[in-house]
Amino acid sequence: MLDQTQVSDSSKPSNGVLLPISDEIRRHLLYTFGHDESHVNNNYRYRALAATVRDRVTKKWRKTRELFEQSDQRKVHYLSLEFLLGRSLNNAVQNLDLESPVREALQGYGVDLEEIADQELDAGLGNGGLGRLAACFLDSCANLQLPVVGYGIRYEFGMFHQLIENGRQVEAPDHWLRDGNPWEIERPEDTRTIRFYGHTQRSINEKGEQVSSLVDTHDLLAVPYDMPIPGYKNDTVNTLRLWKASTADVFNLAEFNSGNYTDAVVQMNNAEQISMVLYPNDSSENGKELRLKQQYFLVSASLQDIIAKWVEKNGDDFTKFGEQNCFQLNDTHPACAVPELMRLLMDEHGLEWDEAWKVTTSCMAYTNHTLLPEALERWSVALFSRLLPRLLEIIYDINAKFLKQVAKEYPGDVDVLRRVSLVEEGDQPHIRMAYLSIVGSFSVNGVAALHTGLLKKGLFADFYKIWPKKFNNKTNGVTQRRWLSHCNPGLRDLLNDTIGDKWEGDLVEMAKLAPLASDKAFQKKWIAVKQENKRRLAEHVLQHTGVEFMEDAIFDVQVKRIHEYKRQLLNVLHVVHLYDRIRRGDTKNMTPRCVLIGGKAAPGYHVAKLIVKLINNVASVVNNDPATKGLLRLAFFPNYRVSTMEIICPGTELSEQISTAGKEASGTGNMKFMMNGALTIGTLDGANIEIREKAGAENFFLFGLDAAGVVDIRKAYDPNGIIAGDEEIRRVMELIEGGTFNKNEPGIFDLLTSGLRNPQDQWVTMADFRSYIDAQQEAGDCYRDKERWNRMSILNSAHSGWFSSDRTIGQYADEIWSAKPLQGS
Ligand SMILES: *Cc1c(COP(=O)(O)O)cnc(C)c1O
Repeated sequence: MLDQTQVSDSSKPSNGVLLPISDEIRRHLLYTFGHDESHVNNNYRYRALAATVRDRVTKKWRKTRELFEQSDQRKVHYLSLEFLLGRSLNNAVQNLDLESPVREALQGYGVDLEEIADQELDAGLGNGGLGRLAACFLDSCANLQLPVVGYGIRYEFGMFHQLIENGRQVEAPDHWLRDGNPWEIERPEDTRTIRFYGHTQRSINEKGEQVSSLVDTHDLLAVPYDMPIPGYKNDTVNTLRLWKASTADVFNLAEFNSGNYTDAVVQMNNAEQISMVLYPNDSSENGKELRLKQQYFLVSASLQDIIAKWVEKNGDDFTKFGEQNCFQLNDTHPACAVPELMRLLMDEHGLEWDEAWKVTTSCMAYTNHTLLPEALERWSVALFSRLLPRLLEIIYDINAKFLKQVAKEYPGDVDVLRRVSLVEEGDQPHIRMAYLSIVGSFSVNGVAALHTGLLKKGLFADFYKIWPKKFNNKTNGVTQRRWLSHCNPGLRDLLNDTIGDKWEGDLVEMAKLAPLASDKAFQKKWIAVKQENKRRLAEHVLQHTGVEFMEDAIFDVQVKRIHEYKRQLLNVLHVVHLYDRIRRGDTKNMTPRCVLIGGKAAPGYHVAKLIVKLINNVASVVNNDPATKGLLRLAFFPNYRVSTMEIICPGTELSEQISTAGKEASGTGNMKFMMNGALTIGTLDGANIEIREKAGAENFFLFGLDAAGVVDIRKAYDPNGIIAGDEEIRRVMELIEGGTFNKNEPGIFDLLTSGLRNPQDQWVTMADFRSYIDAQQEAGDCYRDKERWNRMSILNSAHSGWFSSDRTIGQYADEIWSAKPLQGS
């Protein structure tokens, strides 16, 4: 492992070049930014400190890269359209073990680290769980010293900023690169050319074989920017390589018509559109051409990059390529990697189909993230043939060979051929990207036990029958370095004093807390930490929403993307129910409660945006009614993102994980809350099931139908019967439908209430409402028994070890990648 002396000494000049941190900050202020230290704002202090910390990464980074390039071990390339990194400064300071020297240096400038770190904009290159998972995975790969490179897109504009105006979501652009990005290094020497449109030309090569090549293409350049991913207190610094699109001016200049010079220059800039903006759709696809361009751009640039380095070392001998390389596809977004690798091997490097297919299917691995039909990517054949004509040919060939194999196994069964075909037939045929990924990969994994089981039984059942061994589960995880150690310093210190600090590198160590769960003295310390985190959260809520949270109330939190399947509506219905009870004077056995909801809605998702409006309107009525004082508060937290979750999850007591069973693939927010001692109220969905198993059923508030129950009830779902048959539920619907929350905007919530009453409602919200009310009452009652609550809270943290992304990545490395820690590091 690591040499501790080397890292803890890094405040001293370690390689003859770097000065002590305080001097380096001064040097950067003066020479990098041209500022005198006495006339400088915190933003420049942040930038100087970031540059200082980045300088301390470079040596290990270069060493890791050299080891990586020399090694013949299997390398993993994690392909993802999203990396939701959040902030980097604190992460780097923590992992390089620089906290004390940095704090000391900043003291000299009269500022604290928190103030300076708060200057950094989030790198919001992702939507939600899928993008954040990729970021946690990179952290764990570096912690485990695995030879893994992340490949993504350097979006000029990340996830939009969410503003709330008159209760409604308004989107503003996120120009996160405006002040530059101290964490990236441009590597123009590794620029690749990406080719779109054109058509295929066949010719005969020297060996007399038929070969295909693309002609008349529109070309652009992919320029890589590398970001360091430092391992936790070790010598590894891995790389995240993000591609920026740029114009291939040297190639296009010849086409310039002298009379159209300025138009031609303007045209050139269109190339940069490709990496301009992240598509803000979570769990839904919109089929835009630019999005398919982004996908191919990432995949082609990354594969060319890896193959160029391979050829430098091995020439055109690809026999060991599959043994020494592995590509993990984060959902189907990079699924073009399958036909693109085939194209490069055949058209550019002379391999025959069978050889190329053998290589491709020995190194591609696919992770599925969703069961929602609207999220499954399908690209129209018409678009494909225009944009990527050669890739479409290859996909057709893959399909023909695959269907031939299936026909052999199921003689005479045409229905199965239609079901598993990579091409969905119809007026407008489409390519099924999930099926392409399955056929082209040696591994297909789901992200929680239930999810993988449902894939095998449902969505991918035909494929599971054909290749049972391809399918495997890798339950998601999150990194405890960011989601506990960094974001909850109070708990970190308490843990270190109580069980030592090994949990930072091995979360299973947390189990040592279990024997202390009923220990009075320990409980006292536990409560004190939570109380301080609640105070900090309440301050943040007040500052950003104007709503005052009572610090003795239970903090009940649901933060995640706004989506019907996640059922923020159910949460609001419960708040309305509590409000109704207060108005009726039924407040005995009511635990004071502060409810926080946050999350972004996809800009084109009308219902989700209406849910945001309902939350805000209910909040405004509830918070302004004097009757609710001391009993109930509701706030909508605007612009939910990684850096806000870092404040929210330590201060949360009740974690809302209330999706319709069978719809949430895993969830990872649920894990962040558990680590930080929140209790979960949840359905038997995604990783909730495993959380409940690990924490113990008695330490989890379960409610609602399970996945089979949801399928079952939908056959004869009668929400209106449920409403009519339950007095309390009926009153909730009457309050909303009667206009209590939209006095001046009649009818605006009709779409939501009619959805709840619709027998076709996919999310069966009414079916779970009574059970949810009862589970919430139980949680509230339990909260008033402080000793019991805190025992349950401690046991949840203690048993959260399974949900570290270190465990997840350990399983990917052993069971999919066959990857080992890089020798020599
Ligand atoms: C963890 C996280 C998510 C995922 O939350 P779920 O509750 O699993 O949907 C989304 N966004 C951000 C900013 C996160 O940190």
